[in-house]
Order: sequence, then structure tokens, then C-alpha cells
Amino acid sequence: MEPTSAPRPDPHVSRPGSSADGSAGPEANLAACHVIVHTHWDREWYLPFSVYRRRLVGLIDSLLLTLEREPNLRFHLDGQMALVDDYLDLRPERRAALARAAAEGRISLGPWYTLPDEHLVSGEALIRNLELGQARARRFGEPMRVGYLPDQFGHTAQMPQILRLAGIESAVLWRGVPASMTSDVFTWEALDGTSVTAVHLRGGYNAARDLPLDPGALGARIDELVEEHRRGNPHGPWLLMAGDDHTPVPNGLTTALEQAGAEHRAVLSTLEAYLARRPPAGARWRGELHSAGVANVLKGTLSARFPLKLRHAALERRLERYLEPVYTLSELPWPERELGYCWRQVILNSAHDSICGCSIDRVHEEADERLQRAEAMARALWERLGAGEGVFNPSPFEREGVPPLGVARVEPAPEEPADALDLLLEDCPDHGDEYTFDPPEGAVPERRPLVGATFGRRPGEPFTRLTIELDNRRPNHRLRLIVPTTTGAGAWAGVAFGAVHRPFRRAGTEPGVEFDLPTDPARLWVDAGGTAVFVPGPFEYELLEDGIAITLLRCVGWLSRDVLRNRPVPAGPQIATPEAQMLGRHRFELAVYRHGGDWREAMVPRWAEVFAHPLVPAPAVPLRPGPREDDPAVLMSALRRVDGRPQLRTYRCAEPWRIETRWL
Ligand SMILES: [Zn+2]
Repeated sequence: MEPTSAPRPDPHVSRPGSSADGSAGPEANLAACHVIVHTHWDREWYLPFSVYRRRLVGLIDSLLLTLEREPNLRFHLDGQMALVDDYLDLRPERRAALARAAAEGRISLGPWYTLPDEHLVSGEALIRNLELGQARARRFGEPMRVGYLPDQFGHTAQMPQILRLAGIESAVLWRGVPASMTSDVFTWEALDGTSVTAVHLRGGYNAARDLPLDPGALGARIDELVEEHRRGNPHGPWLLMAGDDHTPVPNGLTTALEQAGAEHRAVLSTLEAYLARRPPAGARWRGELHSAGVANVLKGTLSARFPLKLRHAALERRLERYLEPVYTLSELPWPERELGYCWRQVILNSAHDSICGCSIDRVHEEADERLQRAEAMARALWERLGAGEGVFNPSPFEREGVPPLGVARVEPAPEEPADALDLLLEDCPDHGDEYTFDPPEGAVPERRPLVGATFGRRPGEPFTRLTIELDNRRPNHRLRLIVPTTTGAGAWAGVAFGAVHRPFRRAGTEPGVEFDLPTDPARLWVDAGGTAVFVPGPFEYELLEDGIAITLLRCVGWLSRDVLRNRPVPAGPQIATPEAQMLGRHRFELAVYRHGGDWREAMVPRWAEVFAHPLVPAPAVPLRPGPREDDPAVLMSALRRVDGRPQLRTYRCAEPWRIETRWL
């Protein structure tokens, strides 16, 4: 494995030896249309990785040949470096040809390693994905400086800040933009006000797919596309995305474009060249983009195969909050390769078709195998630390007499049985698929008291822990935990590096391309009406009139179904996925925190941190004193070594919502 932690370039220093425009050539200055020839490459989805990779090898073989034949061809490699690694595994002898194409600016490199879902992986995992993509790209040339987010099912609120930290000042995205956003170029602000220029692919990343090669027909098609794009970009230049899922390299498009008699001059270009010449931003937007107003956001993926997502989150926490901090504070050599191996498995599983649970069963079996391999490696790394006495505290503040990120010979207080909370289970038929909840017409959810759960409390903790064990024996339904509270004022929900407020709203109140479902993503906690619910990972919730619903299981038998009430168009091929029925035994650990004051005063994020990051048996190796954080709104994202130096990353889950990375 390569190091995942290459130093980042200063975003304000221009790059020597490369033009800022991705080498699109002087003709790009005159062009009305920038045609981006690309393919969108889901590495695993309705076919397994091995089949898609066979196709990928054919695609890049033909790309390298076509680049030789057509000197003006530029090809956008989907913003993810994993494709290059996948190819070179089977074609190591083509490395020099790829490096040459990259050096000439004719293929894009990165910036991502995979295209991750933004709601279902940790903020740190988003940063590591960019780091790995950029580090791998630098072995060939300069990574593309565009936050390409073509297919993700909505965008998390702090993404502009994450992109800026990686030296990226722009984003190109599709889903999630609300219908009220009328300008296709806008300023997108993170919670702290950090902004990037966003280009909205209003017609999708495939709006200009299948361009005809007959010059006359091509000219007419270009002019037609310009008319379509004028709605959100009246004067141009326009961005035309010529490619689709797993599409091959077109032959002869460069010549056809030169001969096309379009009214609007179109050239083959790059995203960087387009962004250098884009029209000015016509609007501003702060925070998340998660509306189904213009494109599907497929919210059922927040809960499809939920137990797999929880395991993924547990591995992220193990790396971020236990292994890396302990090795950083110890005198042991930093296990760069082993940690890199674990992170690469996390990042492969972060891809939107993988962590979203919306692929065929075989794909998720392979994701599970990746998780198992990384878990085994993580276990071996922890065992290498030896078994000491007492416990280790993973938090940067004192807990139960254990110093911040330190060890103490104390016996952690045992959990005591607690009074049962008045909670309900809600069961509703679901005839949908991995992408979309779809109850049959007239279905009424059934409610019953939650029985059989165990409730516990630990001294000093203001919340009640609960464990729910289930044996699911029925297909085609959705099972949710209902936590009674008032919801009229909306909810605050934890997200990557922060929290967002979402109002209470009823289903179907926003018109859009799919039925508007009021389910939403959260990480670690959601809070409404003085009640917080903690979940150790990403989860799906909905505000009901009388409480918060947390989806425990969504049991469906299809990757995508052709005809649904809640979604007018298929999200993929209609393929059976019996494993997505989630039959069998499941165990969920949650907590409920009833508090006075608002979530900030009640320190909800900090108590969620305590819930999700238990004290663990101490390692035997001595540790230097860890960093201490006294501000209860500040949470830790990473403590690791980068090029031998300890580095701490924290974020404030309150104003000013800033991610801080500093050397210790
Ligand atoms: Zn995709």
C-alpha cells in the first residue's frame, strides 16, 4: 500500500509546469461549449467488480490507442484514481503510456480514490479518500483540482470545507440541488462559510451522451443541448458531459466536432479548463444539498442493508479513534502500510454503490470480505500493543478518572439495569427496492410497544442505553423504532464534521422527480423536542408528529424495481437481491437522552461521542500524554502521524463549525 498521507500542496501557489486549465489548448478560450468525454465507472454495482474490471481494461486499452490516433482527444476518468490502480494491476506494462497521457493533460487523475457516499461514511473517511486519490495521482502527474461529485445521492453540508482543505476550489455535481436554485453556477458554502464554486449538472452527468458522429447531426445536437442548458446558464460557456455509466471511448468525435456546423463552437475540453472560463456564480447556497427537486436522491439507500453500514462505521472508529491515536502516542514505529491497507478497504467500501447497499448480493458479500480482512488487520495491530492494566480513554477529555487519550488503572463503572423507556416499534409493508421505500397503496404502519429490549445506565451518564435483539423472519417490510417526543420545531442531526437543522415536514410536500420522502440522514445523533437518540454510525430517521422514527431494518428483495409509486423511473436494472431482505438475527445498540435546554446546552454531540467511543482495555505500551480539549463543543476526528509528525484534527460542532488540523 502507498502512504495515505502525502503532504498537500498549498492551494494558493500555482503549479509549476502545468497550465491552470488542464491543457485544453488555446481554442478553449473561444469555445462556447466544453465537451467532456468521460465514462462514469461504478466499480461494482449490478455486476461484480471482476466483470466491470474486465470491461475497464478494455476501455482503457482502447482509450490509450485512441489518444495516439486523435491528438485533440481529452478523457475524463470519472474523478477517481481507483480506476487507474484497477487497470495497472492487469496491465502494468501500460504504466508509461498512462503517465504520458496524464503529463500531457489528456486524462484526468483523481482527486478522489473512489466516489464515496457523503452521508454514510465519516468525515475523516472523506478526507482520507481525497488524500489517497491525490497521493496516487501524484505518481503520474497533477491531480485534477475539481471536486467531482457526479452521482452521489445528495451532498453533505461541510463538503465545501473538506474540498478546500484538499486545495480544491470548485465542485461539479448533480443530485441534491433544490428546484429553487435557478443558476447552474453558484457559490456553495459549508457551515462555516468556506465556499467553493459549484457547477450543477442539471441534466445529469450524461446529458450529452451518445453524440452523433455525422458532422451535420452533431452540430444540430450541440445547438439543441445549448438551448436545454440555457435555463440555468443563459450566456455560457456551457459544460456538455459526453458519457454515461460504463460507456466506451468514442472514435472520431474530435474530427466530427471540428467539422460540425454548430452555431455554438464546441471543443473537447477538461473540467479544469471549463472552470477557468465558467460564467460567474449566479446564486449562493449554504449547507447540505439533499433535495429531490431536480434529480433522484434515492433516500432508501440510507437504510438498505443497515447492519453493513454499522460495521463499516465501527471499523472507521477503530482506525480513527483507537489504533491511530495509540500508535501516535506510543514509541512504536508507525504501521503505515498496515493502516494504509485498512484505510484502502474502508475507502473501497465507501463508494456510493457499495456503502449505500444498492448493489447485487455478490457485491455486498465482497464488501463484507473487505471489512473482514481490514478488521483482522486492525485486530492484529491492536494485539501488537500488548495487553496492559486498566483502560484507555479515546476522547480528548477526562472520562471516569482516565486522562484524555490516556490510560489509567481504574475499573470502569459497570452498566446497571435501568427502567424501561416507553418506546414503540413501527412495522410497515415495503414493496420498494434498495433505493426507495415504497409501501403498497393504503398500507397503514402498525405500532406495538417495544418489548424484550434491555435498558441500562452507567454512573455519570445522563442517557439510557438500550439493546434491541430481533429475529427477522418476514420479507418486504420496514421496521422502525419510535422514540416519543415533540417534533414541530424540527430536528438537529449530526453530520460529517458538524450538525444541520431540518424542519418537520410531511411526505410529498416538495414537488420533485421522485416522491418526496421525509426520511433523512444523520450520524451518531439526532435531537428533537429535548430528546436525543444516539446510534453508533450513520442512520436514517424521520420526524413523525409524535416522535422520532429510527429505521432498524428495511427489508426488500430487489436492487431496483421498474414500477414504484414513490419513484417514476427505475434506479437500476430489476435484479433480485434476496440478501437485502435482512432475514435472521440482528442486534442494535442505541441510547436515548432526555434533556432540558437545547442540544448545545445539553452537550448532545459530546454525550454521543461518549456513547459511540467506549473505554477499552488498555494497551501495554507506554503512551505520552495526549492532547486535551476543554471546549465541550469540540470533537476529535483524527490523531495520527504524517511523515513522522503527530497531527491532530478536531472540529467544532457549533459556531464557527470549523475543522482544525494542527501539528503537535
Ligand atoms: Zn454511480
